[in-house]
Amino acid sequence: MLHIDYANYESLRAHGEETYPHECCGVLLGKSNADGNHVQQIVRAGNTRTDSAHNRYNIAPQELVKIQRQARGLGLDIVGFYHSHPDHPAQWSPTDFAEAHWIGCSYVITAVEEGKAAITNSFLLSGTSEEDKKFEDQPIEIEVAEQVSQQKGQA
Ligand SMILES: [Zn+2]
Repeated sequence: MLHIDYANYESLRAHGEETYPHECCGVLLGKSNADGNHVQQIVRAGNTRTDSAHNRYNIAPQELVKIQRQARGLGLDIVGFYHSHPDHPAQWSPTDFAEAHWIGCSYVITAVEEGKAAITNSFLLSGTSEEDKKFEDQPIEIEVAEQVSQQKGQA
C-alpha cells in the first residue's frame, strides 16, 4: 500500500499537468513499514532528458544525491519516485522497468490526457536484486489530514 495525503497527491498530479506535453518527475520522501510506504513530502525534480522528454524521464544523479541529503536532514527516506505519461496509459513501460533500481520503492505514474491528469497508479518494485526484481500493482490510499487527526483523537 502507498499512503499519501491528499495535498501531496494533488501536487504530483498537478506537476504532470504543468510539464505537459513533457514528462515530469519527482521523488517521494517518507517512511516505510510493514503497512507499506508512507509519503510525507514530495520533491519535484527537473527532467534532464532533453532528447525525448515526452516519453522518457530521468533524475540527474547529482540532483538525486541532493534530494537524498535533504531527506536525511528531515529524518526521512526515499520511499518512491513519480513521473507522468503524457497521452499514454498509467502503466509502466519497459524503459521504466529497466531504469527502476530501488527495491521496495513505489513508482507512481500519472497519465496526463490532453493536459489533464487522469489515472494515477503505483507500482512497488519488489524482489531482492536486479535479477529478480519485478513491478507489483500497489494500491494507493489517499489520506485526508482531518480524518487522520480524528482517528488519533479516538485512539
Ligand atoms: Zn514511464
